[in-house]
Amino acid sequence: MNNGETKTDVILIGAGIMSATLGTLLKELVPEWEITVFEKLESAGEESSNEWNNAGTGHAALCELNYTVEKPDGSVDISKAITINEQFQLSMQFWSYLVNSKLIDNPQDFIMPLPHMSLVQGEQNITFLKKRFEALSNNPLFQGMEFSDDSEKLMEWIPLIMEGRKWNEPIAATKIDSGTDVNFGALTRMLFDHLKSKNVELNYKHSVEDIKRTSDGSWEVKVRNLESGTVERHTAKFVFIGGGGGSLHLLQKSGIPEGKHIGGFPVSGLFMVCNNPDVVEQHHAKVYGKAKVGAPPMSVPHLDTRYIANKKSLLFGPFAGFSPKFLKNGSMLDLVTSVKPDNLVTMLAAGAKNMSLTKYLIEQVMLSKEQRMEELREFIPNAKSEEWDLVVAGQRVQVIKDTEAGGKGTLQFGTEVITAADGSIAALLGASPGASTAVHVMLEVFKKCFPQYMKEWEPKIKEMIPSFGVSLMENPELLDNIHTSTAQTLGLREKELVFS
Ligand SMILES: Cc1cc2nc3c(=O)[nH]c(=O)nc-3n(C[C@H](O)[C@H](O)[C@H](O)COP(=O)(O)OP(=O)(O)OC[C@H]3O[C@@H](n4cnc5c(N)ncnc54)[C@H](O)[C@@H]3O)c2cc1C
Repeated sequence: MNNGETKTDVILIGAGIMSATLGTLLKELVPEWEITVFEKLESAGEESSNEWNNAGTGHAALCELNYTVEKPDGSVDISKAITINEQFQLSMQFWSYLVNSKLIDNPQDFIMPLPHMSLVQGEQNITFLKKRFEALSNNPLFQGMEFSDDSEKLMEWIPLIMEGRKWNEPIAATKIDSGTDVNFGALTRMLFDHLKSKNVELNYKHSVEDIKRTSDGSWEVKVRNLESGTVERHTAKFVFIGGGGGSLHLLQKSGIPEGKHIGGFPVSGLFMVCNNPDVVEQHHAKVYGKAKVGAPPMSVPHLDTRYIANKKSLLFGPFAGFSPKFLKNGSMLDLVTSVKPDNLVTMLAAGAKNMSLTKYLIEQVMLSKEQRMEELREFIPNAKSEEWDLVVAGQRVQVIKDTEAGGKGTLQFGTEVITAADGSIAALLGASPGASTAVHVMLEVFKKCFPQYMKEWEPKIKEMIPSFGVSLMENPELLDNIHTSTAQTLGLREKELVFS
C-alpha cells in the first residue's frame, strides 16, 4: 500500500454487501475504472452483512406481514410488497448473471430455497391473513402462495410449531415455496474475492477518518492504517460511503448540504439459536409472525431455518435492544457524537416522539433468558431452555429526518441513498429491507450519480438484469422466464424438490 497520496477513480468505504455489489456492478460496466476499498475490520462482511448478524431472509415480501397494511376500509394494501418483491427480483437476476458468467461459483454457498410462511393466531388476525392472501395470490409475483387454517395441514407444514397446541386453537398460515435463505456474509466475501481478482485494491484494517472536497471537485479521504498507525490520504472522483452504521458520521464529515438535518437511532438485534440437531431437523421454513403492539417493524418475530457453513440451524428472533453503538464493533459514543448543530432539533423532536419506542427497547434489553423463551414458546410450545442459546446480531441505525408527512424528527424504517447534487459522493443510510435489495439500491446510486453514463450502460445493465426498467408484475411472461432461469442457475429448483 502506498503511504503517500494516491489518486483513483472510485473509493468504496466499507467492505459490506453494499460496497461489494456496487464494486462488482461497476467492474462489469467500466472495467477500466480503478477502484480502492477501505475497511476498518480485518476482512470483508464482518458487520451487518455477516451471516450471524442478520436473519438471512431474501426479503421478497413473501412472508413479512409488515409490508402489507390493512386500510381503514378493511382492504389490504399490497403496494409495498410489490415494490420489495420487484426489487428482490433484480438481486436474483444479478446473482444469476454472476454465476452464469463464472464470476462466482457454487450458488448453494450463499443461497438456498426455503419456504416462506406467515403465521397468525386469533380470529381477527386470521381474517387479515386471508384477505392478504387473496390480494397477493391474484398477483403474478406471488404465484404459488397457499393458505391454510386446517390444523392437519399446518401439522404437515410446521410440525415443530404445531406440536403441543390445543387442537381447536385458531391459527392460520400462508406458505410459498419460492422463498430463500441467503448467506449475505458468504456472498460479500465471494464478491470481494472476485473484485480482488480484477485488481481492485482492498485495504483491510484501514479506517476512514475524514472526507474533504478538493479544489478540482474530487474527494480526499483521510485513512488511518490501523496496523502501522500512519495516516494516508487518497483522492477519488467518486466516493461511496458504504460504512453501514458508520455511514452517518462519514456523511456528516463530507459536509454536503444533503447530509444535514439527518440523524440516526441505533436498534440492536439478538437471536436465539437452537443447538439440538434433532429439533433443527423438525423445521424447514422461515415463519414470520406479527409484531407486538408498540414494537418497531424490524422486530417482527420469526423462526428460521438457516444454512450457514454447510450446517442447518434454527434461529428465533430478533429481540430488539438498545445500545448507543452504530456498529457492532462501534463506540459507545456513536450516538452522542452523531448529534450536530444542524440535526439537534431533529434529534430532540425524534426523542420526544419516540419515548414509547425507547421504553420498548430498554424493556427488551432487560428480558431474562426465560422471558425470551416464553416469547419463543408462542412459536414452539415445547421449546426447552437448555436447547437454545442467545447470539448477538448486528446493529441497525434507523434514519431520523424531517418529513412533510411526519414532521420534525421522523423515524424512517427504510434505506436512504443520500447523494451530493453533482453525484460525486453517495452514502447509504438505514437498514431495511437491507441486503436483499442491494442491487436495486446500487441502480439508484447509478441513476443519481452517473446519469451521464446511463444510456451507454443500459445494454450491459439489461444483459445482467433483464427486468431493469420494466415492471415484472405487468410482464408475466418475462417474470415467468426470470423465475425459471434464476431458479435453475441458482440451484433453487433442484433443492426445492429434495426438501419438499
Ligand atoms: C439483526 C439484523 C437482521 C437483518 N436481517 C436481514 C435480512 O434478513 N435480510 C436482509 O436482506 N437484510 C437484513 N438485515 C440488513 C442487512 O444486514 C444490512 O442492510 C446490510 O448488511 C448492510 O450492508 P452494508 O454493506 O451497508 O453494511 P455492513 O455490512 O455493516 O458493512 C459496512 C462496513 O463498513 C465498515 N466501516 C464502517 N465505518 C468505517 C470507516 N470509517 N472506515 C472503514 N470502514 C468502515 C464496517 O466495518 C463494515 O464492515 C438485517 C440487519 C440486522 C442488524
